[in-house]
Amino acid sequence: MRVAMIGTGYVGLVSGACFADFGHVVTCIDKDASKIERLEKGEIPIFEPGLDALVETNVRGGRLSVTRDGAEAIRTADAVFIGVGTPSRRGDGHADLSYVYAAAAEIADLIQGFTVVVTKSTVPVGTGDEIERIIRERRPDAEFAVVSNPEFLREGAAIEDFKRPDRVVIGVNDIDSPTGARARSVMAELYRPLNLNESPLLFTERRTSELIKYAANAFLAMKITFINEMADLCEKVGADVQQVARGIGLDKRIGNKFLHAGPGYGGSCFPKDTLALVRTATDAGSPVRLIETTVAVNDARKAALADRVRNTLGDDLNGRTVALLGLTFKPNTDDMRDAPSLDLAPALIAAGATVRAYDPEGMHEAAALMPDVVMTPGPYDAVEGADVVVIVTEWDQFRALDLDRIKLLMNRPVMVDLRNVYRPDDMRARGYVYSGIGRP
Ligand code: NAD
Repeated sequence: MRVAMIGTGYVGLVSGACFADFGHVVTCIDKDASKIERLEKGEIPIFEPGLDALVETNVRGGRLSVTRDGAEAIRTADAVFIGVGTPSRRGDGHADLSYVYAAAAEIADLIQGFTVVVTKSTVPVGTGDEIERIIRERRPDAEFAVVSNPEFLREGAAIEDFKRPDRVVIGVNDIDSPTGARARSVMAELYRPLNLNESPLLFTERRTSELIKYAANAFLAMKITFINEMADLCEKVGADVQQVARGIGLDKRIGNKFLHAGPGYGGSCFPKDTLALVRTATDAGSPVRLIETTVAVNDARKAALADRVRNTLGDDLNGRTVALLGLTFKPNTDDMRDAPSLDLAPALIAAGATVRAYDPEGMHEAAALMPDVVMTPGPYDAVEGADVVVIVTEWDQFRALDLDRIKLLMNRPVMVDLRNVYRPDDMRARGYVYSGIGRP
């Protein structure tokens, strides 16, 4: 099959490379010239484990190419994917669909022969209807179907998630009509290389598919927020949230995933998708109060991170030096979008602290977003002269730090462990003032 992927970001490049690895012929298109130039030179513009080798193999195999000008690829494609960003619209939290609709107009002007237009971007219910209207208006003659195929991959494990997904959701309207049936068979052929016993294809109506993506992300954000509130309660009553999580997670109805208490969720999806769902539901006259509360609780948690540091230090932050280990919203990505560090670092600086930081992959991006933070070449440089060190992101390399060396380098041995990487009793035995999340 011939695939055109519009948008070559975290989702577009991974999906494109994986489809190529399945044997399809894929063109990844992006209007960002610098991104395409880097890819043409063999550089990968994002950090995602394994992606460099996957791209290289498939480019060499002639199945994957990248371009700024996707006209030819779109003309000849069996399926054109829209994988552009859908950030929060400034001011109101609705998903900004301008990139999606611009891509739809470009597609309309180019498609030839029957083409399946697939929305991979996360888009609110009804967006597929509007894409269909845009294309139909510009090209009354075109033969096409608009399909929803939301992506569930996680940054940091994106290739594995794409190739072994829990499920693939495909929203096709009127699946028994000739057009619906054609669209279904194109989608089934695209995903045929998956082991369908492990990764079933779930066909639904398009609106249902669009909502599944938001419902999934909102549920996961709610689960994280739930355990975070349990952690706060644990701190007050002298219980241990890790054991609470284990104790409830062994119940199969609950499950043990997404029960790690921490600084609050961030990243490129949960914050914007929860907000967008709240807006969609409010507009539809069916408010989702659980998710409204989830958003508010998570925002408040991130805003209070500097207080947590102050409380552990037991002192005013003014004139103190704080070292941050990890800046990205989670390990194994360079993505800084809505990372908790973006709340924490400015709050520390506003309180008069000097902030030094190290992140294995996110510092380039972070330096532009937090110009007042001193970026250092390694974790031991970051802690030099610090009054408190904060583990913000649980990169593997922070799991076995030389704690005695850090103690010598620091001004005072104080650690705030926002990811519960270390054990409170060990840390105290080593002479640290230590606080984790939700543990006595
Ligand atoms: P991204 O910002 O990394 O990539 C989007 C790319 O689209 C950019 O490179 C941009 O230049 C390009 N683009 C925009 N308009 C274009 C156009 N008209 N023609 C060509 N290129 C264009 O975004 P992302 O993280 O890959 O997310 C894309 C979508 O996938 C979003 O809707 C997001 O919610 C969803 N999603 C993301 C993830 C994730 O982990 N990042 C997971 C699941 C779903």
